[in-house]
Amino acid sequence: MNKSLSKFLDIFWITLIISFSIYVYLDIKNIFSTLKQIQKEKIIYTMKIENETLAPLIKFGFNHALKEELKRLLKVNTAIRYIEYKNIKLGSKQNVTILTFPIIYNHKKIATIKVGYTSKYLLNSFKQKYFSKFIIYLIFILVISFLLLIYLRKRIRSLNILAQALEKLNIRKQKEIPLIDDYYEIKNITNALNKLIKQIHAFYNSQKELFKKLIISKKELETAQEIAEMFTWHYDCITHQVISQNFRKIKNKFNINKLEDFINHVEEKDNVFKKLELLCKNRLNSIDEIVTLNLSGKKYYFRVEAKFIKTKKLIIGICANITEEIKRQEEISFLAYHDPLTGLVNRTFLQEELKTLTSIADRNNKKIALIFIDLDNFKFINDTFGHEMGDKLLIEIANRLKHSIRKSDIASRIGGDEFILVLNNINSKQEVEKKIEEIMNILTKPIIIDDNKLEVTFSAGIAVYPDDTTDISELLQFADIAMYDAKKSGKNRFRFININLQQQIKKFYSTLEELKNAIKNEELILFFQPKIDIQNNKIDGVEALIRWNHPRKGLLTPYHFIDIAEKGGIIHLIDSYVLEKTIQTINKWSTNPILKNLNIAVNISANKFLEPHFVDELKSLITKYHINPSKLQIEITETLSIQNFEYTIQTLKKIKSLGVKIALDDFGTGYSSLNYIKQIPFDVLKIDQSFIRDLLKDRDDLIITKMIVEISKILNKENVAEGVENEKILEIIKNLGVRLVQGYYFSKPIPEDELKKFILNFEKNQ
Ligand code: C2E
Ligand code: CA
Ligand code: CA
Repeated sequence: MNKSLSKFLDIFWITLIISFSIYVYLDIKNIFSTLKQIQKEKIIYTMKIENETLAPLIKFGFNHALKEELKRLLKVNTAIRYIEYKNIKLGSKQNVTILTFPIIYNHKKIATIKVGYTSKYLLNSFKQKYFSKFIIYLIFILVISFLLLIYLRKRIRSLNILAQALEKLNIRKQKEIPLIDDYYEIKNITNALNKLIKQIHAFYNSQKELFKKLIISKKELETAQEIAEMFTWHYDCITHQVISQNFRKIKNKFNINKLEDFINHVEEKDNVFKKLELLCKNRLNSIDEIVTLNLSGKKYYFRVEAKFIKTKKLIIGICANITEEIKRQEEISFLAYHDPLTGLVNRTFLQEELKTLTSIADRNNKKIALIFIDLDNFKFINDTFGHEMGDKLLIEIANRLKHSIRKSDIASRIGGDEFILVLNNINSKQEVEKKIEEIMNILTKPIIIDDNKLEVTFSAGIAVYPDDTTDISELLQFADIAMYDAKKSGKNRFRFININLQQQIKKFYSTLEELKNAIKNEELILFFQPKIDIQNNKIDGVEALIRWNHPRKGLLTPYHFIDIAEKGGIIHLIDSYVLEKTIQTINKWSTNPILKNLNIAVNISANKFLEPHFVDELKSLITKYHINPSKLQIEITETLSIQNFEYTIQTLKKIKSLGVKIALDDFGTGYSSLNYIKQIPFDVLKIDQSFIRDLLKDRDDLIITKMIVEISKILNKENVAEGVENEKILEIIKNLGVRLVQGYYFSKPIPEDELKKFILNFEKNQ
């Protein structure tokens, strides 16, 4: 197109030049003929005037004068070159135009004269005056137009090249068109084009990215659908057809070729289609159904969810395989209600089931017996034969229990070696007694596991609904208490709950309530029992021991409530309270001249010690009261430390790193091996008072005490003898090399003001 434009320009220019030249030529010719006409008119006019002079001369025959007059005319008028009258011929006839004039006298033609004239002079003067100017203009115009043409051609050529470059441009590879011509306009166009190309590029790239993302997300969606074993589908409300684009993604997994076949396998097919129709008619908002499919003998569950798209008269839905999920849920609910080891139902199930069973019993006017069965000495079996053996034993017991009851009864495992049986349709206590005897007989038959013959016994407690109570949780509690009673009475027996035991329980709960209030009301106070350094005769420190200043019963020792607090799950509250009070006391004593050198030992129960934030609590209390941590001693029992060995060691290390001392209380009662003991990071070993008490009577106790003292020396630990009540025992202890003594011989646990008096008194006697 641009080429043809420049061609057109060329032709246009040539045509312009030619037509201009023709026009000029014709114009000049025109001017010339006009000039010639003017010359002719001029001659005619001249001859008309000359007629006045010539006519009389001719009329009257003055030929000589006529000749002279004609000569003058020829001379005066430069245009006239020839005159002829009869035989008078003047001038030259060459290159002249001859005109014949009549000579008029008195309105009559009397003669004719031929005049030859030329326009040469007039033309020459015109040429002289205008022609050169005209030519200059012409040349000027031509040159200008030529230059314009060249300029235009050049620009058009640049435009042409630009167009070609644009045509050849590969937008994927090329980022811009090179500058062809740095002429202002071309440059502008090129820059504008490059800007446009850049924008196209950016757009192209963003589209490319978008496209890539689209492909990725499409793939992801497909993969997700494949992994989730799901497909999307739609249902046409007009044709009633189900169509799926991606059903093929899952068909291999289920060995089904067509969607139709899949639909035909849906057990709830009719129901689902009914709902789809309701959805189409807007009578339902959505569908969320779980359907079952029986595919090649296996059961599958699919979730079908769908929504109606009003504008399209279409239902869009998904269908996902949730078989695993359902199975997991079933497993979870099985686990929620079953004991994983034995497969028996658990406490949760039992509690829920009891609600139903009791109402059935009420209706039928029957009783229910709840039997709490606990294996005797299971800990011993576990420790001796190992946990694996223990588990096998529990499984065997569970099997025996299952087989010893009727179908309508329940056997459950509610804890380590604790089982509960529920016997339904009971008429009398005697019936239960007979039944339990039978069960005990089955249970106590020797059990052979891995070539080991085990003979185990059980303790059982029984409570009967509705005779003993109509409250389900109380029923469980009563059976539990009765079982403890059986244990206390020597194991291997069963006990029914009785009034006495029930009263004990009531007392337990009322005391527990009172105790909770006692903590809030600050009825709990600290007594201190001194620890005497018998080798150096000075007071080393004290043990903080709790007392309950009961509003009605007066001062109570721990014997009356520590056990209740432990069983009632509030011992940690008491320990926290005592720990803070002790640390507060250390802080208070640090400025008291009599008490400032004493360390205080505080008892921490297993429950408290095993709390995950115990060390943090201890640390923040130490910081809160700015105490010297070495003045504080934590007493834990030997049994606790051995039972939770790894955890205890880690915790004790943390406590020691705070600078707090550790005492192993009631040492010797835990039967722990030296191998364990030497790994425990402790500072003080407290010999249990049971050994000290009978030191004089029991030779064994003397030997044990001797050994404990030796152990403490080997391990390089401090030792304390507790429960020293008289001088004789003190003497023996002293001889064994014990340094610290705590006992009634020196002082009972006493309040703070008495302690001060005791110290002053003790120091005075030294
Ligand atoms: P424990 O830690 O073994 O404390 C020593 C017990 O022996 C104290 O009994 C003390 O009065 C008693 N005792 C000391 N010397 C003699 C003696 O010569 N003869 C006799 N017969 N007894 C002596 P208490 O104060 O009744 O405390 C009993 C137990 O209660 C303590 O045994 C400890 O296990 C627990 N207990 C006391 N206070 C607390 C406490 O604040 N927290 C926790 N968790 N337990 C505490
Ligand atoms: Ca203690
Ligand atoms: Ca003790």
